[in-house]
Amino acid sequence: MTELLRQGTEYFTGEFGVAPDGLWSAPGRVNVIGEHTDYNDGFAFPIAIDKRTTVAARAREDRMLRVASSAFPGVVETSLDGLDPDSLNGWAAYPLGVAWAMSRTAPAGALTGVDLALSSDVPAGAGLSSSAAVECAVALALNDLWQLGLSRQELARIGQLAENRVVGAPTGIMDQSASLLGEPDHGILLDCQSLKTESVALGFAAAGVGLLVIDTRTSHSHADGGYASRRRSCEDGARTMGVGSLRALGTEDLPRAATLLDGQTFRRVRHVITENQRVLDTVAALRTAGPTAIGPFLNESHVSMRDDFEISTPELDLAVSSAQELGALGARMTGGGFGGAAIALVRNGDASRVAEGIARDFSRAGFTAPHVFPVSASAGARREQ
Ligand code: ADP
Ligand code: MG
Repeated sequence: MTELLRQGTEYFTGEFGVAPDGLWSAPGRVNVIGEHTDYNDGFAFPIAIDKRTTVAARAREDRMLRVASSAFPGVVETSLDGLDPDSLNGWAAYPLGVAWAMSRTAPAGALTGVDLALSSDVPAGAGLSSSAAVECAVALALNDLWQLGLSRQELARIGQLAENRVVGAPTGIMDQSASLLGEPDHGILLDCQSLKTESVALGFAAAGVGLLVIDTRTSHSHADGGYASRRRSCEDGARTMGVGSLRALGTEDLPRAATLLDGQTFRRVRHVITENQRVLDTVAALRTAGPTAIGPFLNESHVSMRDDFEISTPELDLAVSSAQELGALGARMTGGGFGGAAIALVRNGDASRVAEGIARDFSRAGFTAPHVFPVSASAGARREQ
């Protein structure tokens, strides 16, 4: 048993005084390319990473739900009968939001209470989707304990519903899809319109390359408002262009968009249209030429987010330019923006030199020291025991 599983079992037993019925885990994710495309029905290409949240869980005989997390003090308790999406808050909104979203699909009174204990090595708020790791681990555990038989796609929707309706974050389906569907050394090509997914071999190990995450450890206060306002711009752009979502548009529509949209909305729309194309180009390059060929798409994606979508920050821009100057094959900010992390695709032999160089550049710029660490594409959510 790995250390994380042993800790998960011990933590549950310490909190609840009995052994759990089982252990489930789900990973965080890194988006390789395809940013702010998910809510536009577009394409994204994330990986599940080698950092996971485990949940130890045990069915109860009554209708109580109790959740504990090693990251937060105290046990939060509620009854299945009193689960109200509007009154859940704080960290417990994530696991209990999932319980609410799942319990809606079951016949009234059919479900038993559950005790849940979370432990995790996914850093929170670093753009690695610790939130989806919690949601997907809990969703998988409840799916088993409640014998609901829901598919992974349905579980992803449940995680998204919890995050949108209960936590109140208007996020798309990418994070949960990555956490549930990831595979070692594979990315997940996600079509957010059909919700079809395809596992695509990365070939990183064979090519001797890997991804570094550069967590800038910054988060800007306008992150939530910025995300919502970008969503609105995309909706406005689609409406003016006469389409249901920006997915319906391609690069051939850009000249018409330029005449119909105001300058800012046009740039937002151009980011989404070109980013969708870059996702497809990245996957095609992986298939035909291998991972060393995808760097230019990562670089172009960053420029598009910096200049057209305007969601980058000085720290993210420095992380990217510094990685590029130090010899990375490609680099871009990743995640929602306004802080968080960047990724760099590097040759394995260059990884520590690039990491050290970025730290030195941050120090010279007077920025908070970044956390730079490698991630590898890993298995999605699973029952561990
Ligand atoms: P990200 O998903 O990028 O890490 P979010 O703000 O979406 O950032 O989610 C972070 C939140 O998810 C935390 O503030 C906390 O409420 C919840 N969370 C993350 N990890 C855990 C954990 N191990 N236990 C309980 N809640 C967690
Ligand atoms: Mg999140």
